[in-house]
Amino acid sequence: MAEEPCQCSDCQRFYKEHDRLIREFPTFKQQQELNWASIQSFRTLCSKVTNELQKKLSESESNEDITNEEKYIYDAEITEALDELESVNAYLYSIEALMERIFDTQLSDKIELKFKEVAKELAPDPLNLDRLILNRLFHQTPDFPDKKNIN
Ligand SMILES: [Zn+2]
Repeated sequence: MAEEPCQCSDCQRFYKEHDRLIREFPTFKQQQELNWASIQSFRTLCSKVTNELQKKLSESESNEDITNEEKYIYDAEITEALDELESVNAYLYSIEALMERIFDTQLSDKIELKFKEVAKELAPDPLNLDRLILNRLFHQTPDFPDKKNIN
């Protein structure tokens, strides 16, 4: 028997987002653009924050108004975050290089239609009537764990 996918709130949020991205970006080209924009926005935000933190760190070093102890705690926190962000920025840079390779691929309109078709099967509109009926049936399945004692 296949294992039930995890239904915790984090996973459910992920499934929902996953399906939404397939539904709203159902072609190969749209997925390319979406993922490129997503990597780029993540990189932009991370490097901007990295710059700001570096600025804060050098300001703090020359600031006489705060005690040495305060300075030490705050600077340590920033330094730690900067180390982490540096790794993240390096990973994002690598991902971007790989994404460029994916961007070299172009598919014909016919294949794009296949993408749209499969996307519809994978992530149908949750407000679609068929889907609502299916969901209702699914939640009434008697062997669902929390319904076991009711029957
Ligand atoms: Zn989970």
